[in-house]
Amino acid sequence: MITAAPWSRLRLRRTEHLRDLLAETTFGSAQLIQPVFVVEDLIGSEPVPGLGDTARHGRAAALESMARDLAAGVRHFILFPVPSSKGTRALSFSHVASTVEAIKREFGDALHLWVDICLCSSTTHGHCAILDDEGAIDLDATLEALAQAAVDAASAGADGVSPSDMMDGRVAHIRAALDAAGHRQVPIMSYSTKFASQFYGPFRGAADSAPQHGNRRHYQIDVRARRDAIASSIRCADEGADLLMVKPAMTSLDLIGPIGEITGLGVGAYQVSGEYASLVALAEKGFAEFDAALLETLHVLRRAGAAFIITYGARRARALGLS
Ligand SMILES: [Zn+2]
Repeated sequence: MITAAPWSRLRLRRTEHLRDLLAETTFGSAQLIQPVFVVEDLIGSEPVPGLGDTARHGRAAALESMARDLAAGVRHFILFPVPSSKGTRALSFSHVASTVEAIKREFGDALHLWVDICLCSSTTHGHCAILDDEGAIDLDATLEALAQAAVDAASAGADGVSPSDMMDGRVAHIRAALDAAGHRQVPIMSYSTKFASQFYGPFRGAADSAPQHGNRRHYQIDVRARRDAIASSIRCADEGADLLMVKPAMTSLDLIGPIGEITGLGVGAYQVSGEYASLVALAEKGFAEFDAALLETLHVLRRAGAAFIITYGARRARALGLS
């Protein structure tokens, strides 16, 4: 065993040049994905409580916001379309399609547009599934609706689709539907390990997706269940997912590496609204410096093996000094 002499550690932490030399983990704005909420019939923008400079936008305001984000170095966006009309079984995805079309018409290939695919913003009850008369998940109808949403998004020009519902079999169903519709080139970035969590609160207000009854524990993963969490991502990989994702990020740090090694796929992390809001709250109370705290969390996610990170702070890339 090598016994380090006094000063041998401190010496190498002394200057920024030395710390950078030995940093091991790096990333740039190319690995960050910015969420965008586009609300049908909204004029202008309204802030999302607790999420700093994050807002919900009407379509025109969203385009202006994305133009600013592009100028700040953001290249990847994930769209959360929020329709104004809700249903229970026959759901319309026209707002998804028309929003994707507007974004791609404006920006073309200057950006990569992922589209979140779920039903919770479209259903009157706020669950991620179509429910039967007893209130149980109607899986066949749900998979059909998810596949339709994905095909509509891809047909409108989406560069990738990202199913977040956690229904069994949805990746295979969506892949088959995309292929049948001629969208073989459109990748699926699956929310493959998504825990039931207390950290989704600010998002549910932004996406109009809070469940009106019950909770999502019967389809999201129990945070205590490591095997189930890893198996869920493996299943998505087997069904044809191109990229995987863990969510929330900080409750999944120990899973990112193993899932990537087992599946051989890139695994991203979603720094969810409650995580981001906690950084905002710390900074507002004067307990932390926001940009430094954000950068710290992103570095830790990279250190844990995250290939990419979805964060409300992607647009702060320049402020963080990222290339
Ligand atoms: Zn959902």
